[in-house]
Amino acid sequence: MAVCTAERAPLAGRHFDVLVIGGGVNGVAIARECACRGKQTLVIDQHDFASGTTSRSTRMIHGGLRYLEHLEIGLVRESLRERERLLCQSPHLVRPMQFLLALSNEHRPLMRSSLAIRTGLWLYHSWAGGQRQVTPNYELERQLDAGRSWSVFSYEDAQCEFPERLIAEWLTEAVTAGATARNYTRLLQVLVRNGRVTGARLRDMLTGKEFEIIAHQVVNASGPWVDLVAKASGLKSAQMIGGVRGAHIVLPQFHGISGTGVYTEAVDGRPFFVIPWNGQVLAGTTEVADSGNPDNTQPSADEVEYLFKSFSSLFPHAGLSRADIRYSFAGVRPLPYSPGKKMASITRRHIIHNHREDGVSGMLSIIGGKLTTAMTLAREVARELGIHVKEPANIFAAPAPANGVESSFRHWARLVACKAGIPESCAQAVAGWHGRHALAIAQTASFNPKLRLPLCEHTCHIVAEAAEAVRHEFAVTLADILLRRVPVALGACWSEPCSYQAASRIGCALGWNESLINTEFERFEAEREKFLHPGDYRVPHPPAVVNG
Ligand SMILES: Cc1cc2nc3c(=O)[nH]c(=O)nc-3n(C[C@H](O)[C@H](O)[C@H](O)COP(=O)(O)OP(=O)(O)OC[C@H]3O[C@@H](n4cnc5c(N)ncnc54)[C@H](O)[C@@H]3O)c2cc1C
Repeated sequence: MAVCTAERAPLAGRHFDVLVIGGGVNGVAIARECACRGKQTLVIDQHDFASGTTSRSTRMIHGGLRYLEHLEIGLVRESLRERERLLCQSPHLVRPMQFLLALSNEHRPLMRSSLAIRTGLWLYHSWAGGQRQVTPNYELERQLDAGRSWSVFSYEDAQCEFPERLIAEWLTEAVTAGATARNYTRLLQVLVRNGRVTGARLRDMLTGKEFEIIAHQVVNASGPWVDLVAKASGLKSAQMIGGVRGAHIVLPQFHGISGTGVYTEAVDGRPFFVIPWNGQVLAGTTEVADSGNPDNTQPSADEVEYLFKSFSSLFPHAGLSRADIRYSFAGVRPLPYSPGKKMASITRRHIIHNHREDGVSGMLSIIGGKLTTAMTLAREVARELGIHVKEPANIFAAPAPANGVESSFRHWARLVACKAGIPESCAQAVAGWHGRHALAIAQTASFNPKLRLPLCEHTCHIVAEAAEAVRHEFAVTLADILLRRVPVALGACWSEPCSYQAASRIGCALGWNESLINTEFERFEAEREKFLHPGDYRVPHPPAVVNG
């Protein structure tokens, strides 16, 4: 595989205290926690970091209003606490978002009476500290199908538009604390002697070389791949994961949606979100049992049809047709295997399975979890590994107008603009994705006009961000750069010519030859196609059947 980095230092024979398999949000959070507590930690991913379920989610950092209905009070409170922590720790990536809860008045069960909902929302607000104000969005409310009778409530949650960037930052922190991070490295087998983990056999997917490392403890955080990893290692554990696929469609923004998401019901009464995201609208999701290889997860035509029907029955006057669907993607929720249970009612709480129960000590597998609660999971895993971790004090993000996030952000962007010699609007985009690290990017950009160029004509993001991604954030391929470190290719107007322009500009700045530019461009387009399915969605599909 042709790549854009220098040769990687060999890992064969090295000793680690902890090996973390899987570089999604959970694996990286665990690796960061262990490394920060002084453990020699290796985190690997068979593909790129954050390329699994983590980049296929709805991207909300939320308490999970609907878990209240399932009486998962503990999970909701924990998620709300973690939401506030993320808002404080990563204010450039995790931002508060207003929501409308829109419920049709036809056939509304008692459980969803206005009184019950108001009480639920009041609790939801109070458990999170109740400091920020909830602002109704009447403009968006007016866009709801006027032919139906609605009850509409306002509440607040949060969004991380790019969990991919959060992972990149957490990885950098883990590595600064001494961890080793290696993408394109597959776990072939966990090595066990006398009922105890001794290490692992790995394959470098770039060179094809296989080798062994020594590890005292192993955490299998491979999301929907957890059972495959356990099986490959010959562990005699019962099935842990019951994969449930969820799909999204991405549409252009429409009048009123800016800044406010909608939580409502799909055509069959299932939960349905319509959320402003990345200058577009994200609508999802589905729940379809999926026991296939997670490498090949795709939304089915039925799911796309179901999502579009649900969207258009909600917003019939948004002026959008099937032809406006820009792309669609799907991921598999690594939920606990629960045969016979309704998918919607399977817990979203994470479970840590200790393989001591299966006769192997020193190995844990992670089942389930959410973006929102990855840091709590990491602390729990560290404790299970015998590391002393105190529960941090609760923090609640300050009320929006007083916390100064926006003004310090603007000030920061001005510094970045000055240093890099780029327009302030571009500096804001750079600072919005890279936070404190934006100044280092500006410094890099200041040396070379090629690094100050935008990645393509439609974006403010610059080549220096790509260069930093390769140098400091383990980006190996063009897709790692454009889909996950500087995810411009998820943007509204990205197309094949943009990909080629970005490949050429990055290649030119990093010294790739013509053949490498072309190879990376072709590989990138193949990965973009496999992940996002951009294309023609005009043709309707027969009525959808989506499991509830
Ligand atoms: C449709 C959908 C919507 C969601 N929405 C939200 C939401 O809005 N908010 C929220 O908080 N949560 C949400 N979630 C849940 C959340 O996204 C997932 O629970 C979380 O991303 C799981 O992360 P993970 O690290 O466990 O798994 P993954 O992100 O899948 O990471 C596992 C990694 O392991 C790697 N791997 C697999 N096998 C091997 C091997 N043999 N060797 C090395 N590496 C390997 C894979 O390449 C992968 O990168 C959603 C999930 C889905 C599917």
